[in-house]
Amino acid sequence: MLKIENLHASINGRDILKGLTLEVKPGEVHAIMGPNGAGKSTLGNVLAGRDGYEVGAGTVLFDGRDLLARTPEQRAADGVFLAFQYPVEIPGVNNTYFLRSALNAQRKARGEAELDSMQFLRKVREKLAVLHLDDRLLQRGVNEGFSGGEKKRNEIFQLAVLEPRLAILDETDSGLDIDALKSVADGVNALRSPDRAFLVITHYQRLLDYIRPDVVHVLADGRIVESGGPELALELEAHGYAWLKDRVAPVA
Ligand code: ADP
Ligand code: MG
Ligand code: MG
Repeated sequence: MLKIENLHASINGRDILKGLTLEVKPGEVHAIMGPNGAGKSTLGNVLAGRDGYEVGAGTVLFDGRDLLARTPEQRAADGVFLAFQYPVEIPGVNNTYFLRSALNAQRKARGEAELDSMQFLRKVREKLAVLHLDDRLLQRGVNEGFSGGEKKRNEIFQLAVLEPRLAILDETDSGLDIDALKSVADGVNALRSPDRAFLVITHYQRLLDYIRPDVVHVLADGRIVESGGPELALELEAHGYAWLKDRVAPVA
């Protein structure tokens, strides 16, 4: 589904991704862990097509298509979702209205019929039920006055409604208390499916107690330096990232 090969990217002339290679198959959940400043957010942003990054060498195929040649809007329509894509508060813009516009823009770009308000409402109800959310979320302004936990829940709700093929969650766990963390993890688990993949970016292991990844990668200094099963996350938690430095030979 996602095939990244030797990806290089820089910000303001400074190299951040330095030859990153990663392959994700449909249905898989991959965790990307790594020290601060390693390039984790850069990876998510480059995949989503955010501004401010110069992509150098390397290729990214998404469903066999050159992802880097697509606009951010096309990527979203192709099914790439980056949580934090809509983190901003938009006071006065109703959450439901906003989501329906986003969904219909994507459907239109795919050549699918837009959903009318009844169809959209049906979808929203179905997703609220799957996620065990109540509908108070819907009528509020986008993220307006939301607590940290509510914003994260809202992101998972956006994910549920937009039904992406590849969901990238960047530090969705940061700043959450344990109940909010569990609720986000339950949401992600409910949305796992054989044709959807997740890239879960996290600095800490604790989210992975609840979202059990198929593969754990360590991103350090712009590359994937180690990959393994869920036990790799536990080893990192126990030994810290310094432990990796002893195991990973520096790249000449
Ligand atoms: P991570 O998410 O792993 O903590 P990031 O991808 O956010 O790392 O950042 C990688 C490196 O790029 C860091 O050294 C960071 O300081 C730098 N960086 C990120 N954003 C910018 C920016 N807008 N301008 C300059 N440097 C940046
Ligand atoms: Mg960081
Ligand atoms: Mg980051």
